[in-house]
Amino acid sequence: MSSNNMVHNTIIVGSGPAGLTAAIYTARGRLDPLVIEGYQAGGQLMLTSEVENFPGFKDGIMGPELMMEFRAQAERFGAEFITKNVTKVELDGDIKKVWVDDDLYLAHTVIISTGASANLLGLKNESRLMGRGVSTCATCDGFFFRDKTIAVVGGGDSAMEEATFLTRFAKKVYIIHRREGFRASKIMFEKAENNPKIEFIINTIVTDVVGEDAVTAAKLQNTQTGEEAELPIDGLFVAIGHTPNTELFKNQVTMDEKGYIITSSDKSHITATNIPGVFACGDVQDKRYRQAITAAGSGCSAALDAEHYLESLPEVEDVSEPVAA
Ligand code: NAP
Repeated sequence: MSSNNMVHNTIIVGSGPAGLTAAIYTARGRLDPLVIEGYQAGGQLMLTSEVENFPGFKDGIMGPELMMEFRAQAERFGAEFITKNVTKVELDGDIKKVWVDDDLYLAHTVIISTGASANLLGLKNESRLMGRGVSTCATCDGFFFRDKTIAVVGGGDSAMEEATFLTRFAKKVYIIHRREGFRASKIMFEKAENNPKIEFIINTIVTDVVGEDAVTAAKLQNTQTGEEAELPIDGLFVAIGHTPNTELFKNQVTMDEKGYIITSSDKSHITATNIPGVFACGDVQDKRYRQAITAAGSGCSAALDAEHYLESLPEVEDVSEPVAA
């Protein structure tokens, strides 16, 4: 195990809009943040296409490009990055412990911004055919479906966005949704509805995906009649929501029944968790808004909350003071 006994002011775990905004603010506030950004840095916007609703980009910007801008801005102010995954944490006590494999990092505060991951349907052949026609990311894989037929599962904004995006490549896109009502916002639903390449199949669930080396069909069941059918497709895109990435923090940080971290534990700091000095921001604690801009906003709040907490600690006089581990 290696540890250099340096106690960082703040360690930020995760590098989506929330984590990187926290990094920009804490770096600019001279707190010398250490960002453990993960092997798959950048969060969910790395898997998205054009972002049209992030203020300041009137013509839109590609998700990965936006995240590169966030990161460069944090680096400009001196944020330090480790492109690995955190493997263990011990958050109790005044000095927080964060491990990356055998390397131990210490900090007075930790900002959790590990985001959320795409849910799967749990079909028998879904994982086996993942990357062979089954996907959770239209921007990553849409290119491979030129002139093909695709089905997107889900009735939220993600499903509408993925389906609309996929019509750039596919000759036909089905949206399969388990009920009649749609969770998607009106504007995104209408965009999909008005797209001549998109056809809706409602009151229907996918019971399995068919194919040996590549997807050839989806097995469907009508939820009203029980009728079963096989729909020939080349690709199945699953867009049924996300699960917060909080496994690492279980039994330490208080979460709700779905695993989202509960914040506002301390009334004056909206990103405070149940553990003093530990803050959470972005999708890891937000199941309602889940936008890049709201994540970025909460990242800013977390940085200010951490800064305020650090100011309240009498022993923290300067950045990154060395103490015994
Ligand atoms: P969501 O809003 O939670 O929608 C998930 C959809 O998947 C729902 O229609 C749900 O059906 C369906 N579903 C869930 N589990 C299922 C299962 N096991 N089998 C079949 N269907 C299932 O998730 P989301 O679409 O990923 O959106 C999440 C958040 O991100 C939302 O706040 C959304 O507005 C936002 N978002 C915004 C944009 C944008 O503005 N550009 C793009 C994407 C997402 P039920 O409705 O029946 O529960």
